[in-house]
Formats: sequence, C-alpha cells, structure tokens
Amino acid sequence: MDTAVKAGAAAAAGTTTPAADIADLVARLSPRTPQLEARLTAALEAMETIPAERYRTVHAPAERAERLAVEIGRPDLQMRARLVRADVLRRDGDTVEAGRIAKQVNAWAAENDHQYLLARSHRNLAQFFRHVGDLADALAHAVQSVAHTEVSMPARIRAEHLATLAVVLDENGSPDEALRRAREALDIATAADEHEMSMRVLNNLAYTAYESGDREQARELVDQLRAIEARSGVPLDANALDTIARIEMMHGQYAEAEATLRPILDGSAVDLLTEGNALAGCLLTVAEAQRRRGAIDAAWATLDRAVEECEERKLASYRALIREERAELYAATGRFQEAYEEYVRFHVESQALQSARSEARARALQAVFETEEARRESIRFRELAERDALTGLYNRRYVDEHLAALLERDAPLAAALIDLDYFKRVNDTLSHATGDLVLQQVADLLTEAAADDAVAARLGGEEFLLILPDTDADEAVRRCERLRRVIQGHPWRPITGDLPVTASIGVTAVAGGRCTPSALLAQADRNLYAAKRAGRNRVVADPARG
Ligand code: GH3
Ligand code: MG
Ligand code: MG
Repeated sequence: MDTAVKAGAAAAAGTTTPAADIADLVARLSPRTPQLEARLTAALEAMETIPAERYRTVHAPAERAERLAVEIGRPDLQMRARLVRADVLRRDGDTVEAGRIAKQVNAWAAENDHQYLLARSHRNLAQFFRHVGDLADALAHAVQSVAHTEVSMPARIRAEHLATLAVVLDENGSPDEALRRAREALDIATAADEHEMSMRVLNNLAYTAYESGDREQARELVDQLRAIEARSGVPLDANALDTIARIEMMHGQYAEAEATLRPILDGSAVDLLTEGNALAGCLLTVAEAQRRRGAIDAAWATLDRAVEECEERKLASYRALIREERAELYAATGRFQEAYEEYVRFHVESQALQSARSEARARALQAVFETEEARRESIRFRELAERDALTGLYNRRYVDEHLAALLERDAPLAAALIDLDYFKRVNDTLSHATGDLVLQQVADLLTEAAADDAVAARLGGEEFLLILPDTDADEAVRRCERLRRVIQGHPWRPITGDLPVTASIGVTAVAGGRCTPSALLAQADRNLYAAKRAGRNRVVADPARG
C-alpha cells in the first residue's frame, strides 16, 4: 500500500525521481562509468529535490556520491553531496553536524565564487540559526541565499529558497515582506508543476493565517490546497491535513476536522507523516475537536493514545501539550481541582523544556561557531561599552580613552562643545519622550556633520562633543557654523510644534602636541558659556590672541 501511494505521488509530481531510483542510480555509478560527471550531477539534483517524506533515503546515496566526486576530482560535486547529507542530519536532529557542514561548504563556495553552493549553503545556515533561535542571523543568511539564487537554477530550488526567506521574515516580524516572498515562491512552484513545493508554501501561508486569526484567508488557502491535491493526485501530508483541521475548528466545524485527520489516525496514510512528531500533533488536534463538540469520552481516549505515542517516541514537548489539553478536558466537565493541578504540571514541564531547549541551542551554536561567535560577542560588548544607549554616539568613556592619544599627535585638532538651548522647555512643555526624540535627531545631525574622521560623542544630558582632527580654527568655525544652521533649520515642527530647537557651540583649536584633554575641554566650555551669554544659537571660538 505504502509503495503504491509513494510511486503514485512521485509519478504525479513528474519532475522528481523516485527514491529507489536514486539509490539504484548512484549504486550503479563507478569511476569508469561513461559520462560519469553528468550522471552524478543529475543524481545530485534528484537528491536535492527529494520530497520531504523521503529525505532519509538519500543519506547513503549522498555518501557514495561524495566519494565518487572525490575520486574524479570534482570538489563542487563533493560539496553538493555533503550538503545533501547535512540536510538529512538536520531533519534527524543532528543540528551541530548539519551546521558544521553548512559552514564548511559555505566557506568553500565563497572562496570559489560558486553561486549555486552559496545559495544552498546560506539556506542551510539560515535553518541552522533558526533552529538555535538566532533569528537575526537566520534572516541574514536567508537573504544571502536568495541573493545568490539565479533564474537558471531548478524551479523547485528557487521556490525553496524564497519559501525559507518568507518563513524567516515572518518570524522576524515582517509579515508583509514574508507574504510577498511566499507568493513569489508559490508562483514559481505552481508554474513548474512542483506540487509538493506549492503545498508546502500554501501550508505555511494557511498556518500563518490560522495563527493570526484570519478566518477568511485561512479558508481560501485551504481551498487552494485541496485544489492542488485534486488536480495533481499528490496527497496532502500530515502537516497540511493538521493545518486544515485546525482551520475547520476555527469555523466551528469540529466533526469535519476529525474527518480530515481520520486517514492519519486510522493508519491508512502512514507515509504522509513527514516528521517524527506529526502523529502526536494530529492526535492533539483531534482531541481538541472532540472536546469542543462535546465528545468527552472520545477525547479522553484520543489523549491516552497521544500519551502512548509521546512515550514511544520520546516527544517531551507534545507530552506537555497533552497536559494542557487534559486540563481543558477536566475543566469542561467541571473537575476544576484536577484541571488546576494538571495545568500546573503543564506549566512546570513546559518551563523545564524551554530552558533545556535554550541550553541545547547555546551548545549547538558554540560547537559550530565557537571562535567566530566568541570574537563577535567580544567586539559587540566592547562597542556597547563605548556607546551612549539613547543616541548610539560615542560616550564620555570613549572620549576619555581616545582624546589623549589624538592630542599626542603633532597635528592640529579642534574640539566643539554643543549644548542645546532652553532644552528644559522641551521636556517641560512637551514630554521627556519628546526630549529624547530631539536628542536622537540632533545625534543624527551630528553624525552627518562628523563625516570623515571626526568623532561625535554625547557627554551627558543635552551636551555633545565634536572632535575634529587635522582641523585648524578657521575650518572648525566654518564647520560648527554649518552644524548650527543645520540644527536650527531641521524640520522640528512635527516633533516640537512651535518650540524651536537651536544649539550654542563653543569651539577651540590647538596646533598640536601642547594640550591636555581637560585643558582643551575647559577652553571649549568657556567659549560655550560665552555663546550662551551672548544670546544662544551661535558659535563662539577662541578670542583672537594679540
Ligand atoms: P540652556 O542650556 O540654554 O541654558 O538651557 P537648558 O534648558 O538647556 O538648560 P540645562 O542645561 O540646565 O537643562 C538641560 C536639561 O536637559 C535638563 C534635563 O531635564 C534635560 N535632560 C538631560 N538629559 C536628558 C535626557 O536624556 N533626556 C531628556 N529628555 N532630557 C534630558
Ligand atoms: Mg542646554
Ligand atoms: Mg546643558
């Protein structure tokens, strides 16, 4: 029965080679096979596009393909084979080894400027970082993956890379961008009759619609999933059926939801289970549907079966979710004490799981990216220590550490102290938050003014410092005057309404080698005080020496 369904699915999908054929194909290849390189390439392509439920079948062929590639001196094919194996390892939960291979292949691809392997390995790295919970890095790699994906690559691969980017964008909180990529992936997969891929993308979209409570959209996506199934003859897998059942529940169709998952539960479609935890997930959905339509005994029986399944496969996270559903069942039948106790157990178990998971993730990250991570972290922490949190400008600590060294050089240097005028008014008549916004905007203007090698810092409150190396007094005054006008002319109205924002600036310059940091800043401060006294919103430089 299983083989019939599988063969049917593969034939209907048209473009994929059945798994048995791949193993067979690779087994018959040897270094003396005519046109070995072309055949090996074709076999690799088949392995790279294997439907999800048969991923395990390519592990051994991938190993053999890798050995053949080494024998004929084709490192690119060797890397492709290795990446196929990494994918199997990842699906089987060996995150560390999968991550190591992805990193290694990515380095090779970068060195050899190999677009296809860059696109593939960046996708694998995106999945690695997703798995360890580092969404920002996952997004960076998913973007790279798509950037290296060329139109000449197989449709299924292009759709897959876009689909991964869509998922990661969604997880990073960009649902609109995610939707655009998912639609693009769907168009590519549909145009190429890559039914399994179309279903995967539609399932993701449907689940997102379900999670965000968009009933109309969810329903429409279910119709699309069913339409592809009918048109292609490729059966929907357990994940897709579970999504459909959940959406039916969303519409109050509890009996329908149960019926949707019946083939999974009665074992007539076991090869639609593409992941080890799929059955447990479906059992939970059915139990909930049964509870909601009042079939309490049936719901208890389904949960008992779910417990057995979890114990057999050691699915700790589903074990905790079952407790939550049990608590709901107790509550539905008025057994509130037991409901409460079960809920507490659910809570304790899921918290323990959560921390075990983050530990495992941290370990995986360390194992794969040990040295690079450590370096990156230490650079990040050093940068944080030198920066002001509100504005991102350098802080006083940075100035203290660097100004002395700058003054030791035998070159001219200017320093300008910038203090906002009547800033208290902004805080008092508008709000402290408005004041913060003004400070951030002034910091941006200062950063622009500090182009080249100048240093912009926030010394505290609404007082800023600009250090201008290799700048004499006249040039320093010109630059400060320009900055003063930029601050005054900035479109402040949307932020402060009728309140103007201006700054007073005290600037001083030294020829080089003859000044301490504190003497320099004291002189700039005297000039700033003079600017305030003279009416504010102006630049005052050192008095002319006679
Ligand atoms: P002037 O310099 O023109 O003499 O007047 P001023 O109103 O700017 O005077 P002062 O330097 O005495 O006041 C600075 C105010 O800046 C005091 C404080 O409320 C505000 N301030 C300091 N740090 C922050 C901050 O981080 N955020 C906000 N919103 N306000 C701050
Ligand atoms: Mg001020
Ligand atoms: Mg001040």
